[in-house]
Amino acid sequence: MRISYSALETFKRCPLKFKFQYIDKIKTPKSKEAAFGTLLHSALKILHEPGLIIPTEEDILKFINDNWDTAYYSSEQESAMAFAQAIKIMKEYYAKNYPADFNVLALETPFEVPIQIRQELHLITGKIDRVDKTADGALEVIDYKTAKKMPSQEAVDKDLQLAVYHLGVANRWPSLTQEGRGLKTSLYFLKHGEKLSTTRTPQDLAATKASVIKDFEIISRAAKEAKFPPTPNALCDWCEFQKSCPYFKHKFKEAKIFFNDQDVKALIGEYTKLNQEIDERDKRLKELKADMSKFMDQEGLERLFGDDGYITRQAIQRFKYDSETLRAILEPLGRWQDVLKVDDVRLKKVAKELPAAKRAKIEEARKLDKEYKILSLKKSTKSGKK
Ligand code: SF4
Repeated sequence: MRISYSALETFKRCPLKFKFQYIDKIKTPKSKEAAFGTLLHSALKILHEPGLIIPTEEDILKFINDNWDTAYYSSEQESAMAFAQAIKIMKEYYAKNYPADFNVLALETPFEVPIQIRQELHLITGKIDRVDKTADGALEVIDYKTAKKMPSQEAVDKDLQLAVYHLGVANRWPSLTQEGRGLKTSLYFLKHGEKLSTTRTPQDLAATKASVIKDFEIISRAAKEAKFPPTPNALCDWCEFQKSCPYFKHKFKEAKIFFNDQDVKALIGEYTKLNQEIDERDKRLKELKADMSKFMDQEGLERLFGDDGYITRQAIQRFKYDSETLRAILEPLGRWQDVLKVDDVRLKKVAKELPAAKRAKIEEARKLDKEYKILSLKKSTKSGKK
């Protein structure tokens, strides 16, 4: 199998999007965010292209101006705001990163990471924005990001993309990345003008390979079984395939859809109204409970009588056992394992602190217990935004 890193990442986030994009190859118009990112990447490539003449700040701003396409934006105002942001980003970038200060080895360069699974050789492919050679002979891989939010250093240290880039660069320039000659991978956040860097140990890289092997196996299985479930995630709002996705396509239906002679919109309307009534009744119930409790405290009562019956206040006690004492009693009897139960929340917390290889093993141990569907309601805001 030959798969790009971005396809792998897409699969992990949402298998259905992966299918639409990489198997069905459905063409979609470029989003304004993608157009914005592509233009900035092109400007940075021109800026850092090795050559005798160093582009000036004016050259770069002119490039942005000449290639700005207002068609991606819904209004002139939106386009003007995005353009002003692009100019600001490039000005700040230029001030902090004068091109002659860097020894650029490659720009927008392809890479491959060979992954051996049993007898088969697989490849992860991709493109790296920039590779620099630093003064001490080490290499630095730089990937530009246009994201609004910056991740924590901890997240960057665990970032799979950077680990894969590390493997790709080591594969492409083995003599330049031999042990002892450092290799740093960095994410440059253009909207913040900040760079976060990380390095990887041989153990980290072995864990990355193990995790990628697992991903390859999952993708192969999904392809064999033709199972690509939609998986809602934080990036759905920017997904180009919403019109084909079961979680979003109803939003785009212009004509009303009828089900058992009932208007679906009327069903949703009634469901929403009932939910609202339940919320209001819950709130009122809480107020009544608080008032009655207050009255009981005041009068020293534990039961109140009304025309329709009476209400009793009861103290509920919940106990927990001291686990060490229990263990001391049950372990010698061989019954300690019988009372142990895996606590999902605690397990997640503990797993987060474990090395990637151990986390992968824990993931492997996860089995589907039961599956059912629930309905959840997300109310629209007045502005109609989500
Ligand atoms: S909208 Fe979300 S759930 Fe649907 S295909 Fe896109 S990423 Fe997947």
